[in-house]
Amino acid sequence: MYIGHYGFAFYLKKQANNQKSKIGEIPLWLIFISVQLVDFLCFFYVIFGIERMKFSPNQNPWLRTHLEFFPYSHSLFMGAIIALFVLLVFWKLKGKVWGIILSIGVLSHWVIDFLVHTPDLPIFLDSYKVGLGLWQHPWIAFLAEILMVTLGCYYLYKGSGLFLKPFILVALMVALISRMFFLQDTEIVTTNMAMRAFIPLVINSLFVALAYWVERKKERI
Ligand SMILES: [Zn+2]
Repeated sequence: MYIGHYGFAFYLKKQANNQKSKIGEIPLWLIFISVQLVDFLCFFYVIFGIERMKFSPNQNPWLRTHLEFFPYSHSLFMGAIIALFVLLVFWKLKGKVWGIILSIGVLSHWVIDFLVHTPDLPIFLDSYKVGLGLWQHPWIAFLAEILMVTLGCYYLYKGSGLFLKPFILVALMVALISRMFFLQDTEIVTTNMAMRAFIPLVINSLFVALAYWVERKKERI
């Protein structure tokens, strides 16, 4: 899944706000990184040739990226290890709430991907591949992405007085997923897999920066 992960991040942020730890609020940008950490890692790994993906032409936009070898980022086993690492580090540095919320964020990536991927998500390193395959139904998958971010964002900001900034953030996400869904890939990302990984890396980094911007000052706009 793509922007849908951020929908879950909004949900997690709300749960974190309800906990009110003494250390202070967990920033939204950090929760954004946690829910997409697995993808950030996989894009780096692809760029450096550690993991491999392949482009295969398909009418269905969700099935154009074939995960050939993704044991280190997208296996449940590694996801659990990374989540455990995040849990221990943030628990030590910032307390229990930060550790738990951010490690749930990391683990959520695999679980949400499991709903949409066709069976190419490994359980242990490169073996036992699974996926419930919502991507086989392109329109449902498209609407699910949009629903997750809009509902998540609404749930978090409802009654907060913040409107314009979260709206811009979600509008950009919806624009991005619509571009993916309705338009063909440009040639550079069908032939060059490092570019195919680099572009979403930049876009996800942009969303993290925008999450920082949304919370930068709590002015009511
Ligand atoms: Zn993923």
